[in-house]
Amino acid sequence: MKVSIDPVSTMNCENCGAPLKLERERHYLFCEYCNGLYFPKESPEGLYLLGAPSQVDCPLCRKLLVLARIGHFEVLACQQCKGLLLDMVDFLSILEYLRLKYPERRRPPQTFDSKELARELHCPHCASTMETYPYGGAGNVVLDNCLKCGILWLDYDEVSRIVQTPERVQDFVPWLDITSIRTQSEDENE
Ligand SMILES: [Zn+2]
Ligand SMILES: [Zn+2]
Ligand SMILES: [Zn+2]
Repeated sequence: MKVSIDPVSTMNCENCGAPLKLERERHYLFCEYCNGLYFPKESPEGLYLLGAPSQVDCPLCRKLLVLARIGHFEVLACQQCKGLLLDMVDFLSILEYLRLKYPERRRPPQTFDSKELARELHCPHCASTMETYPYGGAGNVVLDNCLKCGILWLDYDEVSRIVQTPERVQDFVPWLDITSIRTQSEDENE
């Protein structure tokens, strides 16, 4: 995700307490005062939090999202609700990366709460109402996206749920085909 960020991270040096600075291209943080280098630890969900604030608000909490990485893909994360904003074009590659990394599929398929389909989030880039629809692949989650801006919002745990649930025969990507989104949401209403 190519967004501008403030390199001064929300994370502090363990030695001297000064805010760490992000070396974006090199994926580490450093302390200008004691010259320490920090390599972020990977969370159990496969996320490396870099903590550098973007200028993009969380669509739920309205706090500034911070830069994070999954593999070499940059994403934006909310430090409050733990949601993720990512580029749609990266979504399948991110899932593929995480599925290879975490090959166990232990979570049984769940049904999603249909109330989630009625939720209205606003795109943090263009402010239009984001579309919601059930993700057709494993995990049964409801995704929020803005097709115009090419971004996708995932609530806390949705990525893990997709990755850790056994895949169905064929996962599909609804937004590649606009007609299938319409058909699907019409079916949902019946
Ligand atoms: Zn320091
Ligand atoms: Zn949030
Ligand atoms: Zn938008």
